[in-house]
Amino acid sequence: MPITNPKPNFDDIYMELAINLAKRSHCIKAQVGAVLARDTRIISIGYNGPPAETHNCDEEFPLTGCPRDSKGSCSLALHAEQNAILYAVKNGSKIEGSTLYVTLAPCISCARVIYTMKISKVIFLDSYAAYKGIGVEEGAEFLKTFGVEVEQYGVGAGGAVL
Ligand SMILES: [Zn+2]
Ligand SMILES: [Zn+2]
Repeated sequence: MPITNPKPNFDDIYMELAINLAKRSHCIKAQVGAVLARDTRIISIGYNGPPAETHNCDEEFPLTGCPRDSKGSCSLALHAEQNAILYAVKNGSKIEGSTLYVTLAPCISCARVIYTMKISKVIFLDSYAAYKGIGVEEGAEFLKTFGVEVEQYGVGAGGAVL
């Protein structure tokens, strides 16, 4: 047997980073991390939470949880994808053609932003539909319909169980 020295690929490295970033989230219900990479280099990172210097849900609402919007999500938080994209925009990074790694499949509202920013590919870890208990992976479906490549990490193109 030849001695092999397998190197981690960028998908593994960036998804692992996204998983670690999710742990920084102060939201109580969902903790999501995102990494935005272009040409194998990281251009931004993000995790879900209210805008900087506004609220920390876990510290302010430890008993009641985050204030909810009509869909049952935290009403204060920017999503991980939004935070990653906004930081890249603020810093003038070129986002077009980038790949977004995210620990939860994008919601429809993030999907609209991802599409508009011309991000070419989204790799997600967990199903948003399963998390929300809804029948369809609406964000991923929207992106695929309009030509953005979407795959579930560890499953491959399209994801097996959408
Ligand atoms: Zn929250
Ligand atoms: Zn979202």
